[in-house]
Amino acid sequence: MSESLNPNQNAPLLQKLAARLGTPFWLYDDAEMRRRIADVKALTSAPGLQARYAMKASPSKRILKEMKKNGLWIDAVSANECFRAEQAGFATGSHPPEILYTADVFRGDWQKAILKDGVLPNIGSPGMVGDLAKEGYKGPLALRINVGFGHGHVNACDTGGPSSKHGIWWEDVSGTIAAAKSAGMPIVMLHAHVGSGPKQQELRDNLKRLIGVFAGLSGSFPDLQAISVGGGLPWNYRQPETLDVPALAAILADGQKELSKTAGREIRLEIEPGRYYVASSCTLVTQVTDLKKTRSNEKGTGVEFIMVDAGFTDLVRPAMYGSYHRITIPARVDRPTEPFCVAGPLCESGDVFTRGADEMLEPRALPRAERGDLMCLHDAGAYGYAMSSHYNSLGRAPQVWVEEDGSIFLMSRRETLADLTAVETDEALHV
Ligand SMILES: *Cc1c(COP(=O)(O)O)cnc(C)c1O
Repeated sequence: MSESLNPNQNAPLLQKLAARLGTPFWLYDDAEMRRRIADVKALTSAPGLQARYAMKASPSKRILKEMKKNGLWIDAVSANECFRAEQAGFATGSHPPEILYTADVFRGDWQKAILKDGVLPNIGSPGMVGDLAKEGYKGPLALRINVGFGHGHVNACDTGGPSSKHGIWWEDVSGTIAAAKSAGMPIVMLHAHVGSGPKQQELRDNLKRLIGVFAGLSGSFPDLQAISVGGGLPWNYRQPETLDVPALAAILADGQKELSKTAGREIRLEIEPGRYYVASSCTLVTQVTDLKKTRSNEKGTGVEFIMVDAGFTDLVRPAMYGSYHRITIPARVDRPTEPFCVAGPLCESGDVFTRGADEMLEPRALPRAERGDLMCLHDAGAYGYAMSSHYNSLGRAPQVWVEEDGSIFLMSRRETLADLTAVETDEALHV
């Protein structure tokens, strides 16, 4: 968070926004996002390197436009993501492929994205060559390969290895290559996403290994133009630390040279982080509605709950992955801390933001809040709003954007009952 928008130093702004919009709401800090974008740009400043934004982390138009303005390209994982990127100004076609459509499964209007808009398909499953051929596609192809190793931000996010559903297993890729060749689809790009493991050293090791794997393969693809080593720059939610840019930049620059050398021509090397750009730029601001206690008995130890009006329908990561998000209460920073659990409004016992690595409740040292206080759930910009849902019919919370110069924009309004029911019909289906 920039000094100007450190929620802990800007309680009055939070109060004003809460009075205007109600709670909870998402607060984006443009200045912070620009700093993280600058880190990634610094990683890829050598010739032949290109960074994409894996837009599923946070797909709102204002964020996409920020990425476009900074010369980033897009990694989309659905046809609608391709169209949202197009609406934000990214070019269609594959000269160059500003939008890459990475799919394990085709769903939705994928034919329009690929055949009409010319978005480059990055296929993650062998049968997809047949799906494309059936539509008469003869354009370029990217192959997503499971290289047998990788590490997501949590164990449930397995991005490469025997238990990962992503990509085509590396030893079985020859069948897909042959199918693409006979269908007249040149393979212009190879891709693997080894994931944003929490440790920077692990990421660097994985990247080096991956570049080695691709260097071994690149000679056998006569049409190859690019290699993507995927995403996943780690973001440490417990102790935010910025990236060791020089160490990683050197691996990418050297990798690009190595790949070009083994291929015998210039090969573009791409990365496609998602969370790193956006995680720290957004705070979920919620209101404390009450405090209450359970008491110890033969079943366990009592805890004290701070009840808030945000739930896992807003930020699902703690409930889904046991993820940690820093929590602050700006009006009470001067108070001593005591152990509290923070829980939301949903009729579901899992609606608790304070969890340990084993996904059980883990009281957090927090100052004693009072009813009506605003609470900040930090580093909520990646897979926050993007994963929020209609469960319990609460409607998604509004998103607010604060520019570097202090001007404030409503990115999306609070959803109403009418938004929730807009898709309901009484249409009879005669099938
Ligand atoms: C999700 C995803 C990313 C980005 O992962 P982060 O952990 O958000 O950096 C990159 N590439 C692909 C193919 C993805 O699915």
